[in-house]
Amino acid sequence: MLNWFQGSLTRKIGSLSVVLLSFLFLVILYSVITLQRIDGELRELDELDVPLSESMAELEVLQLKQHLFLEQLALACRGGPTPSLTEFRQHKAQLNALLGQVEKTLTAALRQHRMRLDLQAHQAALASIERLLPLSEALEQTLTLHLQDQQMTAAEWQAFEPRAQELDAGLERLLAQLDSLTLSVSRYSEQHERQFMFVNAGLGLAGLFIGIYLTVYIIEVFRRRIGRIQGQIDSLHHSLASGEPLPVMTPPVRRAPDELAELEQDLRQMMQQLSQEICNRQQVELSLLELATRDKLTGAFNRHKWDEQLKVELALGARGGQFSLILLDVDHFKQINDRHGHDVGDKVLQQLVTRLQQRLRASDMLFRLGGEEFAILLRQQSLAAAGQLAESLRQQVELPDEAGLPAYQISLGVSDYRLGDNQEGLFRRADQALYLAKQQGRNRVVLSSAAGQ
Ligand code: GH3
Ligand code: MG
Ligand code: MG
Repeated sequence: MLNWFQGSLTRKIGSLSVVLLSFLFLVILYSVITLQRIDGELRELDELDVPLSESMAELEVLQLKQHLFLEQLALACRGGPTPSLTEFRQHKAQLNALLGQVEKTLTAALRQHRMRLDLQAHQAALASIERLLPLSEALEQTLTLHLQDQQMTAAEWQAFEPRAQELDAGLERLLAQLDSLTLSVSRYSEQHERQFMFVNAGLGLAGLFIGIYLTVYIIEVFRRRIGRIQGQIDSLHHSLASGEPLPVMTPPVRRAPDELAELEQDLRQMMQQLSQEICNRQQVELSLLELATRDKLTGAFNRHKWDEQLKVELALGARGGQFSLILLDVDHFKQINDRHGHDVGDKVLQQLVTRLQQRLRASDMLFRLGGEEFAILLRQQSLAAAGQLAESLRQQVELPDEAGLPAYQISLGVSDYRLGDNQEGLFRRADQALYLAKQQGRNRVVLSSAAGQ
């Protein structure tokens, strides 16, 4: 039994189906055998009950005729006409023949004794017949004797009447016995039919119950387990569509290993691998994006990103957006390289970017355009505000460095977007402001407006 619960789904359903089919087979077998038996019983019933009932009806008629004859005989004793002896003989012959027929039917039923008949009632009826036959013979002889002289005296009648009544009572008894016999036979058959019906209905209901249980079990198992697999596939679809990582999968509940559990396990493993793949791919994409858009040395956006972003900002500006641009260049950077080496020059560039980023907002973007030249895009910033920011950047940069790097300064040129500007126009104004800052002695900020642009 324990093995059954731990078996695979196919085995469980298979064994339940075998139980159901065997049960149905037994029900059918039982029905066929019982129906055959009932059929036999009905045939036997026909062989016994029908002839007996017919004989009983005839016996009753004969009994009635006999009553009439005796009545006539009684009247003849009081001077009435004498009844015909031939008529009585005919009755007697009919009665004997009828009794013989009943005896034959009963003996045949007893010989077959397939049906569980009331044996005692049977034998009692046969015994009654045995008694009746000599009685009717004796009655005929007496009657022949008395009616030879065509008249019966009152004394003869008195002696004859009790014997005639004895025959009548015997017939009455036989009729009652046969009646109860046919009744018990039909009762027995009815009881059997009823029993068959109940047992068959019970077996049918049990079969139906097993069938329903099997169906509900299969539907429920499949609905629950496939629903869970469907849920996993849905979350996979969702993650693939939205790019979100797959949800953390709860470990499966320990259950018997079956085909669906294996499928679920495979799917879970596949999804975990896929989740890992997606994660890796996202990281690779991120690094590729970093490589494509960031400057390797300083981490600022590179020239390629600059070109892309400037197009976007110009498009936004054309639709009414405001932004400003700062161009900045390290003063006498060549000297730093010359005096302290190229590596120190690199570190200065890295430090410069760190210092600038500290002052910028998240929406501001810093680009390295080449060498020691940088650009800053400032969204939603007017020229004056951009100028103030440029000045604070300049002051931040000229502060002495605690890590031992040489001090340095920067010059900055600032311009703002004007409606109709293109990339060259905007850049040229900022570049000329920067050029002016260099010309005027470096380490300063010049606005494009001050540069006459
Ligand atoms: P100015 O004040 O007029 O800008 O003088 P400057 O010396 O900064 O001007 P210039 O453009 O002549 O010199 C820039 C130098 O920057 C030249 C080049 O060797 C150096 N340089 C460019 N790229 C790098 C780099 O990635 N690392 C280092 N260490 N130096 C670089
Ligand atoms: Mg320079
Ligand atoms: Mg330069």
